[in-house]
Amino acid sequence: MSGTADAVVVGGGTVGAWCAYFLRRAGLARVVLVEKGFLGQGASSRAAGVVRTQGGTAEAVRLGQWSRRFYLRQHDEIGTDSGFTEQGYLLPCFTPSDVGAARDRMAMQSALGVPVRWLRPDEVDAANPTLAPGQTLGGTFCAQDGFISPPRNVAAYTAALIRSGIEVREHVAFRGLTGSGVDTSRGRIGAGLVVLTGGPKLAAVGRLAGLRIPVGGARHQVAVTERHPELDPSRVPMVFDLAAGLYWRPEEGGLLFGMSNPDEPPGDNREVDEDYLAAMRARLARLVPVTAGLGLRRIWAATIDYTPDHLPIIGPAPGLDRVTVACAGGAGMMWGPAVARAAADVALTGSSEVLDVSPLGLDRFDETGRSRRAADPIALPFPEKIASP
Ligand SMILES: Cc1cc2nc3c(=O)[nH]c(=O)nc-3n(C[C@H](O)[C@H](O)[C@H](O)COP(=O)(O)OP(=O)(O)OC[C@H]3O[C@@H](n4cnc5c(N)ncnc54)[C@H](O)[C@@H]3O)c2cc1C
Repeated sequence: MSGTADAVVVGGGTVGAWCAYFLRRAGLARVVLVEKGFLGQGASSRAAGVVRTQGGTAEAVRLGQWSRRFYLRQHDEIGTDSGFTEQGYLLPCFTPSDVGAARDRMAMQSALGVPVRWLRPDEVDAANPTLAPGQTLGGTFCAQDGFISPPRNVAAYTAALIRSGIEVREHVAFRGLTGSGVDTSRGRIGAGLVVLTGGPKLAAVGRLAGLRIPVGGARHQVAVTERHPELDPSRVPMVFDLAAGLYWRPEEGGLLFGMSNPDEPPGDNREVDEDYLAAMRARLARLVPVTAGLGLRRIWAATIDYTPDHLPIIGPAPGLDRVTVACAGGAGMMWGPAVARAAADVALTGSSEVLDVSPLGLDRFDETGRSRRAADPIALPFPEKIASP
């Protein structure tokens, strides 16, 4: 590590890597990415890959739309892609208040150009023959929503980084800021711009830079069932059981399903919680009865990032004029490329055409980390507070 880079990006997950790529594409000559382990070793390689434009706020919609368009054009732009599959996503309603909230969201989403439709209960059952019939009061459906393959996304950004001449420094840890650059485990490097990412570790990265960044980490579990003819992808839209926080999608002839335990104290955790897995399986079997007797082919748990209001963080570091902070708030597959691009824009020009980032900065949090904004209503049931470090 020597000399001076035009930009140093900390963190080799989907946010940091795509941000480095966009900075280079914008014309910066020397972009260095420092990753304390290897590319993708954080949340980004372990995600479920769900990409939803049916956002709970206008910002969430715009970030989802931008990211989806990026996934669709990747092959032309970089010669490979993140494996985006347009599967269609159903958000079923189980109570009258679910219906009211869904209809309000649908009006907001439609005004922003999302082709979301209301399905009556019989249409929900027809569109999703694996769902136990007669369970819902209807739901919203968007055929353009889908999923990426998280490992393929890591491969895609690795190729993009290398092809565009970004200096990738794996096994190099960021240790803090110096007057004119950054300090790392391999020495100092000058930096015109610095972008801090870190997913569930962003609070720790921030502390190294003297910043308080209210991002936490919580265990999130995912499992994949065995194959079954009824789970053929042509018969299974993606589904988000919002009230329970359980989602599922087709995966290699079976179902991939995921959920976090909102009652569990936050913190790093990659151990599988068998009891909670049993609760997830029971909820899934109630709604998708064919899964009741199926074995599991894969199970994993990993630490997912979250912010107290479930919104991303994109903005300048207070008091540090060349440092930008970026976090996808637990939605880095869905919003990651857009957050990365907006962070690159903010670092370069102070604003972004992706969306107005002014309400997404660190200044929305008070000293205890509480957000002044209402939480995004469509999110996994994350804790509302950040655990003390
Ligand atoms: C099980 C699971 C399922 C998920 N499913 C979905 C989903 O379906 N849809 C969706 O939108 N999102 C999903 N997510 C969330 C998504 O994966 C994350 O929001 C996203 O990966 C965060 O990307 P990131 O680049 O900010 O963080 P990460 O991918 O965690 O990358 C941060 C990187 O920073 C590095 N780092 C940390 N400290 C330092 C340091 N001091 N110096 C250098 N490098 C450092 C870490 O090693 C890491 O590689 C899921 C997450 C999990 C865990």
